[in-house]
Amino acid sequence: MDRRDFLEVTALGAAAALLPARPRAAKLSPEQVEARARELVAAMTLEEKTTLMAGRLDPKNRPRPGHMFPNPTPGCPRLGIPGFQFMDGPAGVRYEKVATCFPAGIGRGASFDTALEERVGEAIGYEGRALGANLFGGVVVNLLRHPRWGRSQETFGEDPHHLGAMGAAVIRGVQKHMMATAKHYAGNSIENTRGFVDVRMSERTLREIYTPHFKACVDAGVAAIMSAYNKLNGEYCSHNQHLLREILKDDWKFQGLVMSDFGAVHGTVPAIKAGLDLEMPQVKYYGPKLRAAVEDGRVPVAAIDEACLRLVRTMLRFGVFEPANLDRSAVAGPAHAALSRESAEKSFVLLKNERAALPLDPTGVRKLALIGPFASRLNLAGTGSSRMVPPYLVTPEDGIRELAPKVELVSDEGDKPWLAAQAAAGADAALVFVGLTEKDESEGLDRKHLSLSVHHEELILTVAAANPRTIVVLSTGGALATENWIDRVPAALVAWYPGMEGGNALARTLFGLVNPSGKLPMVWPKSEAQLPSFNNFSLMVNYDSWHGYRYCDKKGFEPRFHFGHGLSYTRFAYANMRVKADTTGIRAMVDLTNIGGRPGDEIVFLFIGAPGKVVERAVKELKGFARVTLNPGETRTISFMVRREDLAYWDEAGHCWAFEPGEYRIYIGGSSRNTDLLNQKLNL
Ligand code: BGC
Repeated sequence: MDRRDFLEVTALGAAAALLPARPRAAKLSPEQVEARARELVAAMTLEEKTTLMAGRLDPKNRPRPGHMFPNPTPGCPRLGIPGFQFMDGPAGVRYEKVATCFPAGIGRGASFDTALEERVGEAIGYEGRALGANLFGGVVVNLLRHPRWGRSQETFGEDPHHLGAMGAAVIRGVQKHMMATAKHYAGNSIENTRGFVDVRMSERTLREIYTPHFKACVDAGVAAIMSAYNKLNGEYCSHNQHLLREILKDDWKFQGLVMSDFGAVHGTVPAIKAGLDLEMPQVKYYGPKLRAAVEDGRVPVAAIDEACLRLVRTMLRFGVFEPANLDRSAVAGPAHAALSRESAEKSFVLLKNERAALPLDPTGVRKLALIGPFASRLNLAGTGSSRMVPPYLVTPEDGIRELAPKVELVSDEGDKPWLAAQAAAGADAALVFVGLTEKDESEGLDRKHLSLSVHHEELILTVAAANPRTIVVLSTGGALATENWIDRVPAALVAWYPGMEGGNALARTLFGLVNPSGKLPMVWPKSEAQLPSFNNFSLMVNYDSWHGYRYCDKKGFEPRFHFGHGLSYTRFAYANMRVKADTTGIRAMVDLTNIGGRPGDEIVFLFIGAPGKVVERAVKELKGFARVTLNPGETRTISFMVRREDLAYWDEAGHCWAFEPGEYRIYIGGSSRNTDLLNQKLNL
């Protein structure tokens, strides 16, 4: 076999193309970092230490155009210790009208492209550091348990393995220039009650479903972990000794710092005892109250020293004592804009494409109807901490006009469906741009239902009745229930919230310059009946291990679109699957061929089903994925390696990971749907 035709994939997804790190002045060795951090902490007074451990919110410091907006911490000026300068994300750093706006996390998740995500992270890290921040607050890896979660758009998807691989990738990139924060640890997948809800789950569910992706971030060397607002098993996450101390710091050997979500601390002693190192964004329970607690013996000074050591060590490790010296002209410059467009192009998911509705031929199409609110307005959604205001943006209409200047465009915002239908009737094709906005899903606000608004559904149906070539382009963060209209249109494309270059990326995809290649990072059910219940009104909720494709497999449900679903303008064939085991794990291979007429990217998934004789296991779980580019007729062998330890389950009685010997089933294919998968048995 030709070496060039052989793609090696590790348990963390496709091997990333590592870019050179920014050269730093006098980089300290780990030993020097440790020695210097200890020296500095030893020289600090108690007051300096407790001051170091809380944010210094400046109420005047809020995002506004062209204004630097980090949330600062005070540092220790007497000893030259700088503070943290925290800037939110995830779609870029939040420096209004200056920084690049990338696609929302969920779209980047749909690209399943870890190498690309690392490049996006590197650009974000560069921009943040060049603009005066040193800690990026935008690595959201919360598990998308239910699509009504208001922050679905900020995370990468529903699967822990995928979340961990994407989180690790963006962290590797960001941390070439600045520190990164993975958030919100843990079990944060409801908005309306996030400030007080007690999320209950077994230790097994916590270890197998709700935390492995945080561990992947720790293993990638993430600088900071942010504790979530909610309670977990009876205790606020910021006070949760089991989460912060026992799992994160003791089991996973995390060396970085734990910061609270903003305003998520509720007491001095419980927070410091649990291992919370930094209260954000301002002093409430740390600072003077923490000092008093040390002075009257409620908190040992060793606990303060440990926290300060973590803060100072992390700053030294990332070189934030030195000036950044980065050229600001690269911020939102052509290279980052092109990267934002590439990320958007690789994120779009072609749900359906019948009667060759897509791609549009710029010479064959004379008249195109652009219908709906998001044709001449780019939908970026994102509110609260994820809101971006880019320096410029390209709407779908702008992008199409630029790409196909000879095509006549008729536009209608869709306020009155019957008028929109009239506009669509005489066109060669109608593009209907509909979806959700920040009024439907956002930080602090869960979705009320899974469907589009009644108005948007009516718009689709009315336009589809007037024009048989109606193509729906959807803006959304979470899954949508499409039953009311999907059978009435020949094509639908998910654009997510595609970042500032979204219009160019969409035009190039609709006209076939780009072949769609994203895949759904979550199940799209027919209705809520195919999902676990979503309770965003009770004081307490119980989570088990079943959601998304795991739940559908267990219940035998056929969702409308499976996890991993996504069509292309070409077709791929899988053949010749082979598996073998050795003492370290499993190797699985498959030959993938592009059997269509265009070059294209395919995302290949590896799932594994465990014997499940000792404890109940999922029918199958994602253990690897790879994105592969193939020319027409080209075949490539895809190879996955999975370590034995990645097949373990959490043994409640032994309080440890355990491996179950027996018959495993290995699946490889283009989505989680059984008919899309080859499978073989293997005894381990
Ligand atoms: C959000 C965090 C964010 C912080 C600072 C909180 O409300 O949950 O994700 O980093 O605000 O903006």
